[in-house]
Order: sequence, then C-alpha cells, then structure tokens
Amino acid sequence: METTKKQTAAANRQTFPVAPRVWGLKTVFVNLYFVANPDGSWVLVDTGVKGYAQQIKNAADELFGENSVPQAIVLTHGHFDHTGTVKELAQQWQVPVYAHPMEFPYLTGRSSYPPPDPSVGGGAMAYLSFIYPKKPIDIHQLLVLLPEDGSVPGLEGWHWISTPGHSPGHVSFFREEDRVLLAGDAFTTRDAESAIAVMTEKREVHGPPNYYTPDWGSAHRSVEALLNLSPKIAATGHGMPMKGEELIWQLEDLVKSFWLKVVPKRGRYVHEPAITDEKGIVFLPPPVSNTVPKVLAVAGAVAVAGIFWMAIRDKNSKQKQSRQRQPQAYGKDRPFSHNRVMTGFPPTIDPEHDDPEAHTNNYP
Ligand SMILES: [Zn+2]
Ligand SMILES: [Zn+2]
Repeated sequence: METTKKQTAAANRQTFPVAPRVWGLKTVFVNLYFVANPDGSWVLVDTGVKGYAQQIKNAADELFGENSVPQAIVLTHGHFDHTGTVKELAQQWQVPVYAHPMEFPYLTGRSSYPPPDPSVGGGAMAYLSFIYPKKPIDIHQLLVLLPEDGSVPGLEGWHWISTPGHSPGHVSFFREEDRVLLAGDAFTTRDAESAIAVMTEKREVHGPPNYYTPDWGSAHRSVEALLNLSPKIAATGHGMPMKGEELIWQLEDLVKSFWLKVVPKRGRYVHEPAITDEKGIVFLPPPVSNTVPKVLAVAGAVAVAGIFWMAIRDKNSKQKQSRQRQPQAYGKDRPFSHNRVMTGFPPTIDPEHDDPEAHTNNYP
C-alpha cells in the first residue's frame, strides 16, 4: 500500500491547520505554532506546557521530516504555559530562543512577573494557580533579543509587534502577505475565565486572561494595534483560530467595549498598572482584598482540576485513537512601547534588583 506511511503520519498528526505553512498544537490548554518558509525551513512560536517536548518533536517530524530542527524558537512572552518545554527543546535542537528585551528579566531568573491578581475573581486560570511553577525560569544561555528592525529570525515575511499589557514584553507575530496574526495572549479566542469554554473550544474573541494581566491600559492599546493590522486570520495562545469578518467585528467590539466588558470591575491593576523595566518590577500597586470566599475557591480548584485531568486523559486516549483516523485536509514602526521607556539596548541586568523568590512567577 503506497499511501500507508503518509496516511499514518497524517493520522498521527496532532496539529491543527491555521493558514498556509502555519500549524498549531494544543498542549492541555495552551497553543504553540509551527511556522514554515516556502523552502521548508521553520520556526517554533512558543513551546506549550511542561511535558510536551516529545509530542512537539513528533509533530515537527510529521510536518517537516524526521529529526527536523527549527531555525529558532520565538516567544510571545515568558509565562510558564508558553515556555514549559523551551529549555529542553532549545538545548536538544541547539537553537537560539528569541524574546523581547522587556521579557528578559523573567526568562533569566532575575525577576518574577508582577504577582497575579486574585481579586479579579475566580476563572479557570485562577483556580489552577496552585499547580503553577513558583520560580522564574533561567534560559539566559539560550536567549537572544528580537531584532530591533521588527524582523523575525528564521522567518521570511513576518514581523514582530510589541503588544505589552498581559506581560511587559509581550509580542505578536504578523505575516503581512496574507494578514496572518499570531497574537499570543494579547487577546484570546475563547473565554479564559470559563472552565466550560476551555473544554468546548467555542471560538469567540476575548481579552487577555484577567488574573495575569498587570497593565490594562497597555493591554487595551495592544488590542487596538492588532485590530489596526486588519488580520484575516488570528491564532492565539488560548482558543482555536478565527478568521474573516467574524474576527474583525469581534475584535472591534473588544476594543470598543474594553473598559466596560473586558477590564475587571475591581482589582489590583485596574486603576494603576504594575510598572516594570528591563530589569524587572519597579512598582506594584497594593493588593486589594480577594472577593472569592476560600471555600468557593477550593471547590472551584477541585472542579477545574478535575476538568483538566479529564482533558489530559482525553488527550491520551485521542492519541491512541488517532492511529485509526483518516488523514485530514490541511489546510513599523514599533518602538518598545511599554509603560517605561527603554533606557538601553540591549538591556542591562542587575542581579540585585529583584528577588526571584519573592513572588510566584511565569503565569499564563
Ligand atoms: Zn497563556
Ligand atoms: Zn500569558
């Protein structure tokens, strides 16, 4: 049977198509993306949650050939669910990892992210926070600054765009030719606050995950900047890709009603953002009291953990089933615009500046 090998590869493929030469892979609740050039060379955008390195390599083998190695890994931001396998993969592949300079403190073990805000209410992400890593990762030996000219190393025709707010050095990636946008967590395409939406994958434009966003003003301007690109297809860190008019009108609505519908009514960062610079945290507004009663938080944590456990179990059983499945069709100006002006490029790091043990770190 001539087609068996090809069919098996396609059936085993865990990726979903996004656009020509762009595929996504979901790791539990977060997506990463494989982006290829016309010549077949490729780049990995984000790296998913911990424990998925082998699955990422398998997907790369199926997409690009056995033992295929990317030109680089590029990160939208450093939250743990986007960097879970970055160290392992970059070391094995011997490739550089590119990120925005304002994200460096959180990727070099120098500083923790501004702490999450439990006062914005529950949400699936908040309930799961007890399982999140508590320390910053350190990949300084692998880390390289994204080029100042906006180009994306290893990828032709793509640009990176500074989209801070959800994290200080958050970036998005855009292919002008067919207006394909990889938006990271600048906005999402499912309701991150709802555990049920996490399961059903209903496609709908939402803001960045509440619990982890320390600068709502920047987050708003970033969504507006992305809308101004008029993307035809958008693929995000959380949720399935969206396209066409539905994407645009929902993004327009998001920008218009951002302070009414997206920004929480109350919370630590609602009236005042966390201030950070290229060394880490500079200023944090005081915490506000948590409105979620402890008993509810515990009940929520148990329920959400159960749902995620089922999701992981479902993933494993799907992997087994996929062997029988039929093959699928596959389908500048940007200065560093965070709330602090960059004083130097590349940034200087002061190891005394922040205590990595002081806060939890690398949230989604
Ligand atoms: Zn995320
Ligand atoms: Zn995030």
